[in-house]
Amino acid sequence: MTSQTTVKTLLILGASGDLTGRLLLPGLARLVATGRAKGLKLVGAGSDPWSPDEWRDRVHSTFAEAGKHDAAGAKALAAVERDTAYHQLDVTADGPLASLLAELEGPVAVYFALPPHISQKACEVLHPGQVPEGTRLVMEKPFGSSEESARELNRTLLTLVPEDHIHRVDHFLGKATVLNILGLRFANNFLEPVWNREHIAKVEIIFDEDLALEGRARYYDGAGALRDMIQSHLLQVMALMAIEPPATLGERDLRDAVAAVLRASSIKAPYKTSTRRARYTAGSIDGRQVIDYVKEEGVDSGRNTETLAEVQVDIDNWRWKGVPFILRSGKALGDQRKEAVVTFRPVPHLPKGFSGVDSPNQLRIGFGPDTLELDVDVNGPGDIFSLDRATLNAQLNASDLLPYGEVLEGVLTGDPLLSVRGDTAEDCWRIVEPVLKAWSRDTVPLEEYDAGSSGPARWSGSVPAAQ
Ligand code: NDP
Repeated sequence: MTSQTTVKTLLILGASGDLTGRLLLPGLARLVATGRAKGLKLVGAGSDPWSPDEWRDRVHSTFAEAGKHDAAGAKALAAVERDTAYHQLDVTADGPLASLLAELEGPVAVYFALPPHISQKACEVLHPGQVPEGTRLVMEKPFGSSEESARELNRTLLTLVPEDHIHRVDHFLGKATVLNILGLRFANNFLEPVWNREHIAKVEIIFDEDLALEGRARYYDGAGALRDMIQSHLLQVMALMAIEPPATLGERDLRDAVAAVLRASSIKAPYKTSTRRARYTAGSIDGRQVIDYVKEEGVDSGRNTETLAEVQVDIDNWRWKGVPFILRSGKALGDQRKEAVVTFRPVPHLPKGFSGVDSPNQLRIGFGPDTLELDVDVNGPGDIFSLDRATLNAQLNASDLLPYGEVLEGVLTGDPLLSVRGDTAEDCWRIVEPVLKAWSRDTVPLEEYDAGSSGPARWSGSVPAAQ
């Protein structure tokens, strides 16, 4: 499906920040180089007193790399670079941002690459009449810090633009991955009839990183694994795994289906049974020495921030009643895993005489690179009464864009597929908030694990490792 850019100007607030330099500009560069952002103007803004050349240098250092091997791409990148501008402004002051919006060629997409409380303040000081029609507002995670604050932020944003012009970014699943899950589930008649409580014993959604804190204490120590990954990203993956078949891939059908699943979802007390949390201590990952989390610069040990979180979500509807959805994410683990694992129930009766099957079939969907692995039990070589486990593998379609290129393409073309809808953003907080409260009261012990291990020893075996 080719997409037409409707946005004329991309305004990045927080032009000197980490997100802009490390993720947004590289994502944009690839998008421009592939010819999918023709005529786009790029404007940076921030509190730094940068000259236009300092900003252009920042853009150039990223764009030069993307245009290296492609003359047409280099030409498109040069055009954006030539016209780009930088504005110094305090976005929290009443007036400067509104004046800038009035002078830019519209429609404008305003990307809030700012600390969350600054983004919120910037939106609060804008008056409804100061946001030109067609403006799109792009909000980064975390969207609010509780159900109530997310609701409040939604109210503020809705005074400025309609819901379909608000992009609450979720870059975790790229567009190709979202469509790969939907294609797998809804284009294969053999799968959908067994995709329910009758045939599925549990679903695990895992994002284990082998990276430790990497100097991000300022953000991460105030967030932790539950807020950082599970509240924002893994609940969205879970919803896609669990939705009812939508009539179309249109945003209304798809996002309605996602919202319905999340509304039915909760983490049930007692939280000592349904959740676990842990924090890494010193260790080694692939020969890299990792220091204790609490000794990392900027970490306040009194916050008891978890670097590994696991929760069981229950989806109380006809299809999923009684099937645990285990969501887990952590840092500094020995193996990097980014996958959904569906474990099927055993067959109701294995004819007597067969032997050799001792674990249930699994379907594993790997994310980035997108892969598929399906276990099948087949008659083994030699003794044909002995069943062997064979695994069917497939490499799924990949995107030619970086994750933030896909996010930006959605923003520029007005496609909200990779954006979280307002009610859903609130619901994700509603699901995790009771757990956050219980953890802050120490109802669930904060366990420890060595960096480079697979988590606390007591947890081993709960989430079966990928083959
Ligand atoms: P940084 O702290 O690196 O950058 C923040 C930017 O905001 C700086 O350019 C800063 O400029 C600017 N800024 C702060 N106050 C003002 C103000 N009053 N007026 C104008 N500009 C201001 O943060 P990140 O780039 O890391 O994060 C930005 C957002 O992206 C956050 O919401 C974060 O959660 C999210 N995010 C970040 C990721 C990352 O890897 N970095 C990944 C995913 C999401 P100055 O330095 O001059 O004050």
